[in-house]
Amino acid sequence: MREYVDAGHPVSLYIHVPFCTTRCGYCAFYSLPASKCGRELRDRYYDTLMRQLEELAGELGRPFHTVYVGGGNPGLLGARRLRSILSLACYAGKPEEVSVEINPETLDESFDSLCGIVTRFSAGIQSFSPHSLSILQRNADVKAVERALDLLFDFRRVSGISFNADLMMNIPHTSVSSTIDDINRLVSYRPEHVSLYSLTFEEGTRLVETEQPLDEDEEADNLIRCWDELGRLGYEHYEVSAFARDGHYCRHNLVYWNLDQYIGLGPSAESSVGWSRVVSSREADTLEGYLERPSFDSEMLTVEQTVEEYVMTRLRTKWGIDRQSFLERFGTSFDSLFSQAVSRLDPSWYDDDGQFFALKRDGVMVMNRILLSLLAGL
Ligand code: SF4
Repeated sequence: MREYVDAGHPVSLYIHVPFCTTRCGYCAFYSLPASKCGRELRDRYYDTLMRQLEELAGELGRPFHTVYVGGGNPGLLGARRLRSILSLACYAGKPEEVSVEINPETLDESFDSLCGIVTRFSAGIQSFSPHSLSILQRNADVKAVERALDLLFDFRRVSGISFNADLMMNIPHTSVSSTIDDINRLVSYRPEHVSLYSLTFEEGTRLVETEQPLDEDEEADNLIRCWDELGRLGYEHYEVSAFARDGHYCRHNLVYWNLDQYIGLGPSAESSVGWSRVVSSREADTLEGYLERPSFDSEMLTVEQTVEEYVMTRLRTKWGIDRQSFLERFGTSFDSLFSQAVSRLDPSWYDDDGQFFALKRDGVMVMNRILLSLLAGL
């Protein structure tokens, strides 16, 4: 896997920490609740990860572009261990951004000690409504959510870090005005970044057994109202679910949306390296599998598959596809591959100034249809 890294381009690092206090009712990501991962399992995960990271950092021999520790709830590793992981990840030099996710019920003063290394915290707030939190089966109650935001506010005042907060909307039995209320309460803490997700009903989750999704048109109307509200409050909508104020984009997520190089460590973490053809891989799907064999199982994509990935990720952003970057990366022009398909799209779905091809809001709402049309001809 690592032999496919393109030395001419930066590499980012993602670390997946697969532990949660309990499992939320809607979540389809891989993680284990605390009741199934005792101290011994967490110790083994930590030791394996540190060995893997030491090897990777030594082989790479240069700083990672960005580092992101996500989960799960990385806070369950504790501040001391997170500090050791991040020190090792940063030993060759300072990345442009170092982010750590910590759930509200776990965030406490001890994580202040990470502020010298971490530049950005992320907390899954989801809602300030007890009703919504209970439908989502979150751990944190409203008190824990507010305490976490107070702490992040203080960390920023003292250490200059920035923070993101996730919100969830289109939750059954709630109205859009409750999400508008959530947005306003959250923005009173002035997070630099907000991620606003529409609740999805994933196969195999507890949520699908007990609740029904909202009507699709209602969901779309609600999204528009909430996007407008964030815009009114000074947040730039730069990716389908991501909003930043004053240019505080998530540098690490931009790596994904540019299909730049990243290596993922930890169970179910994904990697993508290489340039005009990328090598994509995924670590073992379970913690047991990861502990037994923490190595990559790789697949080299064809140029067509790489172009497909690139188009799918770039069109999520407000910048869309830059024809010049496309040509430099793939040696072929965007128009030679897509002009016919573009000519069949409804012009109200996209902006095209001859250099950038990007989706408008109406296009974002029908993104899957657009992607099917564009990619069918590849
Ligand atoms: S805390 Fe996050 S990763 Fe864990 S179950 Fe809830 S949503 Fe999923």
